[in-house]
Amino acid sequence: MVVRGNSQHVAVIGGGIVGATIAWRIASRGGRVTLIDKAEPGSGASSHSFAWVNAGAKEPIGYHNLNRRSLEMWARFSASLGDEVGLRWGGKIAWETDPDASEQLKARVSQLQSWGYPSRLVSAEELAELEPALDIGPVSAAEYSDNEGQVEPQMVVDACIRRLRKLESSVLTGVDVVGFDRDSAGRIRAIQTGAREIEADVVVIAAGTDTTELAAKADVKIPQAQSPGVVIRTTPLPPLLQHVPVVYAPPLGDGRREIHLRQCADGRFMIGEGDQESLAEDDTQAHADDLLARAACYLPGLSDAEAIPVPVGWRPMPLDGYPTMGFTAESPNLYVALTHSGVTLAPVLSQLAALEICENVRADTVLEPYRPGRFATITDEQIAQAAHPRSRHR
Ligand SMILES: Cc1cc2nc3c(=O)[nH]c(=O)nc-3n(C[C@H](O)[C@H](O)[C@H](O)COP(=O)(O)OP(=O)(O)OC[C@H]3O[C@@H](n4cnc5c(N)ncnc54)[C@H](O)[C@@H]3O)c2cc1C
Repeated sequence: MVVRGNSQHVAVIGGGIVGATIAWRIASRGGRVTLIDKAEPGSGASSHSFAWVNAGAKEPIGYHNLNRRSLEMWARFSASLGDEVGLRWGGKIAWETDPDASEQLKARVSQLQSWGYPSRLVSAEELAELEPALDIGPVSAAEYSDNEGQVEPQMVVDACIRRLRKLESSVLTGVDVVGFDRDSAGRIRAIQTGAREIEADVVVIAAGTDTTELAAKADVKIPQAQSPGVVIRTTPLPPLLQHVPVVYAPPLGDGRREIHLRQCADGRFMIGEGDQESLAEDDTQAHADDLLARAACYLPGLSDAEAIPVPVGWRPMPLDGYPTMGFTAESPNLYVALTHSGVTLAPVLSQLAALEICENVRADTVLEPYRPGRFATITDEQIAQAAHPRSRHR
């Protein structure tokens, strides 16, 4: 196998969990990498993430399998980083009180089981045994997926950067990429920043929601949907959840949405409502207080915490909701890495991207449905008309 990585300089734009893991994977293969972020690495969408590592909420089966493969890679990936990254297993529980929602949950479990996924229906008694600290209330259907978990994106980014520095790669922070110097064939010769140009053999755009604007500067269309989300934090508490790190509890009252919560490595809780793609823009203290009060109905220990509002987080969200990974026809040395569920997907996408970039091969048929070229002919009108890809399964 000929490794091209040693000779080429790869510039990765964006130091969120996607860009940082790709940069580290390339550097660990012997590639020369410069990771560039306009702000502090990890401060974009990755800092807003609920960071639930899962495949249970993903479909169709090909996308489910991609997430599952990544989920199963997380333990080895975190060990290879050589630092604590807050990875915690134990699964996810969810339960319902509404009859229609219960039927949907049962159907979902049945589908996941047909795919060989370790999701199963549990009784109210088992639910209570799994997490004694919860005040579960009425249950008409409940589900437990014991293979899911959580991780801390900032710890992952920090670990990648420490490893990059050890490998003598460059990490530039506070450097805004504003354009590209390209040759007549569209190849990028250099990245333009406010202060200077940075020459590169390969450029990776992993700039989250800014990917669309940056890619357009290289004539590449990467349309995104607007996907605001709000996940609040609390003041730190001693460990409350004993066995299951991720909890989805049913709505409290008509018109309300389900509550999800997890306890972070530093003792703070993260609390959100709805599913992983629910749109939310209320980042006020009043809304944070309300979320905490509702979550405390299920986990009374939360009453000792204060709610800390977090500004709206904008999910990087390709227009059809699925990852966008690969080299581009318009700019042949430009590689795009844009995805929702980037926390779950970081191990597999970073591995495949590094392989493709360092070896100049198409890594794996698993990425074929997710190539940037699928958007090449989309018109502005189609982009404007596209429905928001809201589905709990992406
Ligand atoms: C509310 C919310 C909840 C979520 N929950 C989950 C979950 O439970 N599980 C899950 O798997 N995923 C979840 N996600 C999705 C996941 O967090 C994202 O897919 C992931 O964080 C994306 O990482 P990224 O590196 O692509 O983007 P970002 O973290 O946004 O990183 C992009 C970086 O690029 C930099 N940048 C942008 N433009 C430029 C430029 N011109 N020059 C230089 N640098 C630039 C930015 O400063 C930023 O640091 C959630 C996201 C949100 C917002």
